[in-house]
Amino acid sequence: MQRRGDFRVSVTKDYLVFSSAHFITFAGHRCEGLHGHNYRVKVTVDGALDEEAWFVFDFVILKKIMKRLCDEIDHKVLLPLENSKVQVTEDGEQIKVAYEGKPRYVFPKNDCSLLPVPNTTVEMLAELFVKRLRVELDAMGARGLTAIEMEVEENFGQSAVYREAIVSR
Ligand SMILES: [Zn+2]
Repeated sequence: MQRRGDFRVSVTKDYLVFSSAHFITFAGHRCEGLHGHNYRVKVTVDGALDEEAWFVFDFVILKKIMKRLCDEIDHKVLLPLENSKVQVTEDGEQIKVAYEGKPRYVFPKNDCSLLPVPNTTVEMLAELFVKRLRVELDAMGARGLTAIEMEVEENFGQSAVYREAIVSR
């Protein structure tokens, strides 16, 4: 059968949320104070139809993976490890955070999530979620997917979307 269109599946659920603290740095010498958001995630996966199941991807599996990725950073202080102005150092059970060399915060290690991003903007969180989802999908041998799109919202009507094409091997 010749099909002219293509398919994508989306998941956004009231449990695909995380409530976390963060601050971001701006160009120049401006840095936000610590504050929190109730973040919400929406994921869209593009791909070919599975020839037996007639779906692009199993919703149940996608929801499970995304729930786990959200839970990992829920109720944490999100800290960037690749920001040249923010120094994050581990000291026993503590995480010390300095901004441009000046001490700013000390957090219990268990309350922090140290992320490989240059800034904890929703853009960078969306990209990070795509990277982490791709690791999970690769590990389970998912096939036929052509793109992943991730939306992370930090306030009602305020979100960023990252889309990445998957080149099949
Ligand atoms: Zn914020």
